[in-house]
Amino acid sequence: MKKVLAFDLDDTLAVTKSPVSDRMAVLLGRLLEHYDVCVITGGTFKQIRSQVIDRLNVSPQQLARFHAMPTCGTRYYRYDALGGEWELQYAEDLSEKERAHIVDVLEKTAKDMGIWCEEPAGEIIEDRISQITMSALGQQAAPEDKYAWAEKFKDVRPVYRDKVAEQLPGLEVRIGGTTSTDITRPGIDKAYGIGKLIDALDISKDEVLFFGDKLNEGGNDYPVKMMGVDSIAVDGWETTAYALDGVLGVTE
Ligand SMILES: [Mg+2]
Repeated sequence: MKKVLAFDLDDTLAVTKSPVSDRMAVLLGRLLEHYDVCVITGGTFKQIRSQVIDRLNVSPQQLARFHAMPTCGTRYYRYDALGGEWELQYAEDLSEKERAHIVDVLEKTAKDMGIWCEEPAGEIIEDRISQITMSALGQQAAPEDKYAWAEKFKDVRPVYRDKVAEQLPGLEVRIGGTTSTDITRPGIDKAYGIGKLIDALDISKDEVLFFGDKLNEGGNDYPVKMMGVDSIAVDGWETTAYALDGVLGVTE
């Protein structure tokens, strides 16, 4: 029996960096009547709020069953229904010195490889305190541009990742969302976050069902599958919506 449904965000619940559709917002609301729901993403808490939480039409009690794990589970937020506020449960922050060094390595390596975007849409490198994220075209690039870039550079991305990782021993370097590379403390990935969630709710991993679009080896959802959590591979929010229709069909 599943108690928690956990989801990656970009390309699993929503188009990359976009709000969830009306259909998905309704499905998540229905899920919150029966399950705890977790969103775990390389993105920030602000992105989880604007892409998902602000789109939900649910009671404070339902929202109290929502678990927000931004920056690959390096941070964990829950809603306090009485206080009406989101509360930070923990944060695995990087030091200022580490962050400055990471930013240098990401920029220099991208320039050396000729993949540094000269006219980005927004910042290329974002300091998320517990995670540094390099978005090849900038944070605000249009989804279609990001998908085109990801296709064009699909063989280059692992090379970039490896070159950056070589220069950052002791840190975790991961291929993130559509165009992003994420750096966190070692051992902190989505499996770490899901492990924390399992502890916090005092459940077993058999009680969690996870949905992700990057469950293949090397993908940022892969660690969750590897820890033995039942995982469903999707290739966009529409596939997730079909699967949730099925879940709710047997639940309601
Ligand atoms: Mg994804």
